[in-house]
Amino acid sequence: AKTLRLILGDQLNSKHSWFAKQDPEVYYVLMEVMQEQEYVTHHLQKILAFFAAMRNFAHQLGKAGHQVIYIKLDDTDNQQHIDKNLQQLIAKHHIKRFEYQLPDEYRLDEQLKSFCLSLNIETGVADTEHFLTTRYEVRDFFGDRKSYLMENFYRSMRTRLSILMKGDQPLGDRWNFDHDNRKKYDNKVPLQEPILFNHDVSALKVMIDKMGVKYFGRVDAEKFGWPLSRKEALQSLNYFCENLLPHFGTYEDAMLNGHISLFHSRLSFAQNTKMISPVEIITAVLSQWDKNKEDITLAQVEGFVRQVIGWREFMRGVYWAKMPEYATLNFFNHKSQLPKWFWDGNTKMNCLSKCIGQSLNNAWAHHIQRLMVIGNFALLSGSNPDEVDEWYLGVYIDALQWVEITNTRGMSQFADGGIIASKPYVASAAYINKMSDYCKACHYDYKKKYGDRACPFNSLYWNFFDRNAETLEPNPRVGMMYNIMRKFPADELRKINEQAEVYLGMVDEL
Ligand code: FAD
Ligand code: SF4
Repeated sequence: AKTLRLILGDQLNSKHSWFAKQDPEVYYVLMEVMQEQEYVTHHLQKILAFFAAMRNFAHQLGKAGHQVIYIKLDDTDNQQHIDKNLQQLIAKHHIKRFEYQLPDEYRLDEQLKSFCLSLNIETGVADTEHFLTTRYEVRDFFGDRKSYLMENFYRSMRTRLSILMKGDQPLGDRWNFDHDNRKKYDNKVPLQEPILFNHDVSALKVMIDKMGVKYFGRVDAEKFGWPLSRKEALQSLNYFCENLLPHFGTYEDAMLNGHISLFHSRLSFAQNTKMISPVEIITAVLSQWDKNKEDITLAQVEGFVRQVIGWREFMRGVYWAKMPEYATLNFFNHKSQLPKWFWDGNTKMNCLSKCIGQSLNNAWAHHIQRLMVIGNFALLSGSNPDEVDEWYLGVYIDALQWVEITNTRGMSQFADGGIIASKPYVASAAYINKMSDYCKACHYDYKKKYGDRACPFNSLYWNFFDRNAETLEPNPRVGMMYNIMRKFPADELRKINEQAEVYLGMVDEL
């Protein structure tokens, strides 16, 4: 029967079994629609990267002998909505069967389910054949536990997939090398530049502007660096294995004024659009390690494997276990608006200016910048998690709701009350100073809690614990901070709280 198969923008998996053979009865459709530009305001680089990668993918499918329909954003008969375009195609091509791949976003999953119910032709849905786990595996793994411990899930993944294992024991007799990893950058090894591609996407930008798409962030459209095809994704993976993996774990939490990505892979966009799969990534990393055990320690490899088979699969599983309620959780009942410098990086706080500035310039920041600088400030200053989610979902090139909301609302803002994180990820300037060189170049003094030029992170940090004592003090993982706070000299906490109040009243000017 004449079949129409929908491929969403984050389903660019050329290894999918759909494409194993050419069939003249099967049409594939990819579409650029305003619907997907309007559910949140995206960073311009994110829109450009998605459209360019989709166009490349469609081109490759066509070259491989498949029948491909590609709807561009400015095509005159584009209805700008997925359902409406599909209806139009079904009528025009006398389609008898409609198929799609399981969306990773709840929003699109619901939309396509009800779209299928509205059709009077046969429908079918296929797996994306990308992840290592099914949608509900994490939910079933943890059952009705209140909090989900990633470490337990990760160990079961290592065992099940037999990765870095010796029988049923972890290689090196430890599951976790975090203690050896996570060092400040100490100049002991030279920094490497990230691999950048030199695409000219200026024609795409002209089209996006012509269509009046709203966006934020900056781009050099004539020198666009992100991998936009499977070939480039594989080149990026190879570059990572050869140049960055040997120091990935050691410096995975380090931050620098003068270098945005240190030894991170920057594979998240290629991976989240499914141009490459976690299996391919892990296989390449393990084989690189196998060939170079003298240069690459187990700690580096374990640190990376943990992110891909642990955190990434875990976050997806939490998403499907907890949506749609998850998107409404606000444990601390935080209501503040994000400071206005989230959109221009214009703050005297050097760490935030650098991390937000680089997010606006590159549509990317690494994990610790997202968590311990930007997210840390948002949480300490009581930002509304809806706004925080919206910003993160818009700004990062790799942001799709399943992995954004779990990291932002869950891990970073603790708005889920501890399903993902066993305690809030907050820190004072001491941590930021320990892991970066930001404080040296800052207007504020990282050592001061109050007074002239006192670093805002310090007073906000203690103020956060003080104002949330009722909910947080009983938590054994945070109790230690309260022991310290309760021993402050008599007037100390009052001065800290006064300083915090001043700063909270002027966040836009910090
Ligand atoms: P590397 O550091 O090189 O890690 C390798 C891979 O591991 C990544 O490509 C990614 O696929 C995976 N990974 C690492 N950490 C995580 C994690 N916490 N959750 C899921 N996968 C992980 N990641 C996204 O892909 N999309 C998001 O929208 C996103 N939002 C985030 C928001 C916040 C507040 C935080 C704290 C983290 C977020 N992350 C998100 C996770 C992580 O920061 C990015 O995956 C990473 O920075 C991408 O860069 P990389 O490819 O160089 O990663
Ligand atoms: Fe950030 Fe405070 Fe350090 Fe400045 S002093 S860089 S605001 S932590």
